[in-house]
Amino acid sequence: MSDIASIENLIDPDTAKDEDSVQGKFAKKQQEIKLKEIEKQTEQNAAAIGLPYVNLFGFPISPEALVLIPEERSRELKAVCFFYDGKNIRVACLEPNEEIALEIQRLNEQYFADTKLYLISQNSLNQALEAYKAVPKVKKYDSGVEISEESLEKFKQDIASYKNLNEKINEVNVSDIVTLLLATAIKVGSSDIHIEAEENGVIIRFRIDGVLQEAAVIDKEKWKKIITRMKILAKVKINISNKPQDGRYTIYLKDGKIDVRSSFLPTAYGESVVMRLLNSKAVALEFESLGIRPEILEKLKQEISKPNGLILTTGPTGSGKTTTLYAILNILNQPGTKIVTLEDPVEYQLAGINQSQVDASKGYTFSDGLRSILRQDPNVIMVGEIRDLETAEIAIQASLTGHLVLSTLHTNDAAGVIPRLIDIGVKPYLLVPSINAVISQRLVRKLCPYCRQEHRLSTEEEEKVQKILAVISPRAKVNTPSKLPTIYKAGAGCEQCNYLGYKGRIGIYETFTMDDNLKQLTIDKAPSFKILQQAIENGMITMLQDGVLKVMDGITSLEEVYRVIGNFNYVDELYDIVISQTIGRGVKITAAEYERGQALTKHIGQAINLSDIPSKELIKMIMSMASASDAGDVHIEPEENGVAVRFRIDGVMHDILDLPKTSYLPILSEVKILAGFATNIKRATLDGRFSVYLPEKKFDCRLSIISGGYGETIVIRLLINSAASLDLEKLGITSVAKKELDKAITKTKGIIIATGPTGSGKTTTLYGILNKLNKSDVKIITIEDPIEYQLPGIMQTQIDTERGYTFAAAMRSLLRQNPNIMMIGEIRDEETAKIAIEAAMTGHLVLSTIHANSAAGAISRFAGLGVDKSSLANAIEFSIGQRLARRICPHCKIEDTPGQEMIEQAKSILSSIKNKEVVIPKTLKFYKGAGCEQCNHLGYKGRVGLYETIPSSNSIRKLIQKEETTDYDIEQEAINEGTISIAQDGVLKALAGETSLEEVFRVI
Ligand SMILES: [Zn+2]
Ligand SMILES: [Zn+2]
Repeated sequence: MSDIASIENLIDPDTAKDEDSVQGKFAKKQQEIKLKEIEKQTEQNAAAIGLPYVNLFGFPISPEALVLIPEERSRELKAVCFFYDGKNIRVACLEPNEEIALEIQRLNEQYFADTKLYLISQNSLNQALEAYKAVPKVKKYDSGVEISEESLEKFKQDIASYKNLNEKINEVNVSDIVTLLLATAIKVGSSDIHIEAEENGVIIRFRIDGVLQEAAVIDKEKWKKIITRMKILAKVKINISNKPQDGRYTIYLKDGKIDVRSSFLPTAYGESVVMRLLNSKAVALEFESLGIRPEILEKLKQEISKPNGLILTTGPTGSGKTTTLYAILNILNQPGTKIVTLEDPVEYQLAGINQSQVDASKGYTFSDGLRSILRQDPNVIMVGEIRDLETAEIAIQASLTGHLVLSTLHTNDAAGVIPRLIDIGVKPYLLVPSINAVISQRLVRKLCPYCRQEHRLSTEEEEKVQKILAVISPRAKVNTPSKLPTIYKAGAGCEQCNYLGYKGRIGIYETFTMDDNLKQLTIDKAPSFKILQQAIENGMITMLQDGVLKVMDGITSLEEVYRVIGNFNYVDELYDIVISQTIGRGVKITAAEYERGQALTKHIGQAINLSDIPSKELIKMIMSMASASDAGDVHIEPEENGVAVRFRIDGVMHDILDLPKTSYLPILSEVKILAGFATNIKRATLDGRFSVYLPEKKFDCRLSIISGGYGETIVIRLLINSAASLDLEKLGITSVAKKELDKAITKTKGIIIATGPTGSGKTTTLYGILNKLNKSDVKIITIEDPIEYQLPGIMQTQIDTERGYTFAAAMRSLLRQNPNIMMIGEIRDEETAKIAIEAAMTGHLVLSTIHANSAAGAISRFAGLGVDKSSLANAIEFSIGQRLARRICPHCKIEDTPGQEMIEQAKSILSSIKNKEVVIPKTLKFYKGAGCEQCNHLGYKGRVGLYETIPSSNSIRKLIQKEETTDYDIEQEAINEGTISIAQDGVLKALAGETSLEEVFRVI
């Protein structure tokens, strides 16, 4: 091109400047033609190298786009950013090269945008570079420094405490006031400065450790000048005062920097300003120093090290939840791990992590951002907050597809997270596999160690603390002292703490990870209190408890913990439920104490008069005696002249101890504390639970306290889960009946019911059946009231009628789990009966108890509940009636000669047996126990079941469907078909020497 003589040579450059002259017009036209040619050439060049082309002449380049590449850099690269809409970036260059490619990569990663490169002409480039002039407000990235470290230092010297700010502020000139405020804030460790215009002045308050402290008042006249300076610093519009504005600047210090976020808000008396100091140095990013208990820290570290899943933190604004996430990111921040954050706004810059910010005004929301982040294929993603279904769903999806996702949520406590997510529309089955850990937290101020004071607790306060500690689950593995250590409160304040009494803050946490029970509750869409209950049972320490533990360590005060937790009456209520259902604390019994109990129960006959035992030891004594004598229940009853302690052994009450009246109150308060109640609680009935630890074994006890004539009666039920008692083969079911039962339980559908009065062992029989059916390929669910024994491998649930979780409601929701076998504690109403039948007809084996006197009675009671009789006839497979009779002690068994009347009665019962397989001996011999050491001189030891069983048959089915059928009709039909009645079974067992005839007549 240079060889061709240029027309421009003909034009005198000076005259050509005059556009109106002929030469000028000509020159202009020539220029236009030339430019067009160049543009055309550029377009062709672009096509040749496969780039799009653009002409930037007259193109509206926005400052937002332009500043993505700083001017100097732009000139170096000969490339400009000419378009940016929050999602797309367009860069244009004269000639593509390696450096520009790197720049584009940087833009992509920094702004999560789709960046494309265009080819432009030199003229376009000049146009774009010109545009930088049009945006003079855009300063260089770090040009916000207008407050020097020196000036800050000077003011820091002057300010002893925020309290003398008020005098100081009216001494300095207006332009220094902002510096003074910042210096004070830095000196006292304040996170925010609030400057609020009020009617008579401008109030300055500092937030120190989360609490606002009033510091100074400024004259209204000065305010206008001060706020102008603040606006200049924050780079917001000075002339706007009727709209909220946000700005930001950075103060550079030798050892770090402080970002100041200012927000300006119009109020009734003028503009108010909040300056937030984000001191990147001040954030405790060490996970270990956050104040999480070591046991929990370990567990959390495990969850964090997983390659995928969700880690959620929750709590109100200012609870430190984001700091916790930053600390976790800090651990995860390793070479080879790509971490991307999406925040609103970016609070602290973390080296090595790609941080981006949502911008709702540009339509760049959490869900948009998350979608584009996922295209970057990160390992770890932090999403500032999950507040809508869309974000939640993408986050969960990401967590399920190999990303570890961290986020925060707004709920009161950890337990609230799952219901909250379900509430916004997340599917429970997606939550179950995605959640790794949930953390809830608050920040409490730490007591200033230089001026804290001892806090003597009132009885009431102490009780409250004891109660909070009492319900920490043994699974939390926390040692709670039985006697409270010295507790401190804030003192008057000293120089060290700026006269606040507190200095610095520490987190109080509660956290849980998912287990099968919590997964189930999630699927069931359980309310948060259920989740809380389960989490506590699993060993979660609540924020309140963590706070109280930190009070006992002298770190903070009770007042402070109660302040940040706020209202926890709801927790109180939950504790009552938790206490009554989970194992609270326990009694430890030593070998020597147990031996003493054993010695005292060698001969049970008359109550022993005991008055020499210290009242503190009494409950240990009673529990070791109860255990040594295999008692089922312990009854402690105040009487007119003393306290009677009676044991129910093998179903029969025995007087055991006769105690002086004075021992009653100590026992009562001891058992109340054991079960986690405050000793002053008085209610019609109290139900609780505690454990007894013997040298070799441990068992649970259920406690109920019932108001009575002379005071409250204490009943302690010993829940001893001996494997033998759950062995179906050893229950004593007659071999004929056993065959039928074995047949019935192999069915895959139908109903098996057990009946008998309370204490007849019907539930034990059902547990025995479940135990036998409990194989890995069979899914068993129980619904109980309450859960009596824990069966490994079986999902056991408990109803809660007060909260509407009835047998019927539980069945309906648990049937969706499609179990093979379902055990329902009791069928007591039409609704439950109907669902049970429906379940039985649709391929489930249903086991239940029903309240009746006999197996036949159970069937007719069922029919009487208003169910469809033909369905019932088809559904019912087997009915079991039973009683428990004491077993004769084998060590002292001798022949017995019962009275003639009893023998006659026995003979008549035997003669009614229709079953041909039963052999009745010619001469009738009966037995009893003489009493020996082995049986505590009772003559009996243990119990044997007396059973009657009715398998369903055609004739029984017909009877069920008939309108007028009575118990008697069913019983006679069953006996005709070979059923042995409870009475018949009893007499046969007496003849076999298993029990005595007297005992048989006692129980039937
Ligand atoms: Zn102090
Ligand atoms: Zn004996």
